[in-house]
Amino acid sequence: MVAKGDLLYAWTTDSGLAKKAECGGAVTALLKFALENKIVDAVVAVQKGFDLYDAIPVAITDPKDLDQTAGSLHCGTLLMSTFIKNYLDGAKKMKIGVVVKGCDLMGLLEEAKRDEINLNNLLTIGVNCGGSVNPTRARAMIQDKFGVDPDKVHKEEIDKGQFIIEYEGGHKGISIDELEDAGYGRRTNCRRCKYKVPRQADLACGNWGVLGEKAGKATFVEVCSAKGADLVSKAVASKKLETCAADPKGIEIRGKVEGAMLKLGEKWRKKDFTGLRDDLWKIIDKETSRCIKCYSCIEKCPVCSATAFKGRDESIMVRRGKLPSDPMFHLRRFAHISDSCVNCGQCEELCPMEIPLALFSHAIRVEADNAFNPKLGASSYTN
Ligand SMILES: Cc1cc2nc3c(=O)[nH]c(=O)nc-3n(C[C@H](O)[C@H](O)[C@H](O)COP(=O)(O)OP(=O)(O)OC[C@H]3O[C@@H](n4cnc5c(N)ncnc54)[C@H](O)[C@@H]3O)c2cc1C
Repeated sequence: MVAKGDLLYAWTTDSGLAKKAECGGAVTALLKFALENKIVDAVVAVQKGFDLYDAIPVAITDPKDLDQTAGSLHCGTLLMSTFIKNYLDGAKKMKIGVVVKGCDLMGLLEEAKRDEINLNNLLTIGVNCGGSVNPTRARAMIQDKFGVDPDKVHKEEIDKGQFIIEYEGGHKGISIDELEDAGYGRRTNCRRCKYKVPRQADLACGNWGVLGEKAGKATFVEVCSAKGADLVSKAVASKKLETCAADPKGIEIRGKVEGAMLKLGEKWRKKDFTGLRDDLWKIIDKETSRCIKCYSCIEKCPVCSATAFKGRDESIMVRRGKLPSDPMFHLRRFAHISDSCVNCGQCEELCPMEIPLALFSHAIRVEADNAFNPKLGASSYTN
């Protein structure tokens, strides 16, 4: 029997799925098992769209379609929580199995606090996440730093600190550090993120710590809840999944890699926040003067779309038809989300004027946490 707290290597028994999956295919095998056995009514995952820079969220009800979602798309910068909130009625009427990175999970937790998501109807399969890459920047990076036509690339992966591409005629890897020093690499909010293993999900799955002959062929699964343990137990009993105990050396390495990533996150915070400290409001005032009031930052935010800003009503916040926007609009928005910004980066990702909105709201959130509850630092999921 599998129990909460277990650390396992797991792999699918389906050889077709194993070829498409990122590592052991445990994530897809478990979701497929849940759908086939009506543990969930639908699965929300990510699928390749037009090309590998185009990751699209999908809601799947036929288990046969799930294999198309296997594999990791590192240019997938979408947020699963707002997808469920906006298009699937917040899981209020159906049971949903969903793949979540740390930011997706934090978004779900914040939306649940606002009664916009029913967590009881969710089965959350977490994937560890070292960060994702903006698709437009990824294309430029591949052209400039790899010297390869981005349209000729058919596979990308992040492994052992390198961004690796396979393309017509070869493969090439460059260290993420080198790419980031040159202004490419992961999104800036991902660099600052310190929620790499989503332990508030039912299961946290990844490739860190899979050693020896299992490397690349098994998924490292941390069982985080009784619901997750039950799912793995049933899938193993039905012969859809095989497991063994994780190698103790692998567990140690996984812990060290996670620790190193957290330190790196702290380093990026220092770097990004330092220049802001003295002049934050002046910088915000200058940067937000480019705002064209498209409202993307509000609509896709898991935290602020809910209440105060929803109506876009003149009487609430925003004077319609007036550009540049009133600086108070932005200041109020930052204040409104300052206790709960999850640093998912959606506001910045979607801003057509390239205002570094996530940087500002994350800086304010961290400052607020430190001011009001310094002890929270190490344990809070965004800190
Ligand atoms: C952006 C990103 C960064 C990652 N970084 C790390 C890391 O640093 N360390 C580590 O141990 N593991 C990392 N992983 C997890 C790892 O790549 C595998 O997803 C995990 O090991 C599960 O493997 P699997 O074979 O069981 O998954 P599969 O059976 O192949 O299933 C993968 C699932 O992930 C979903 N998915 C793909 N892209 C995204 C996306 N952008 N957002 C949300 N869901 C997505 C797919 O739809 C599918 O359901 C990362 C994953 C992603 C998406």
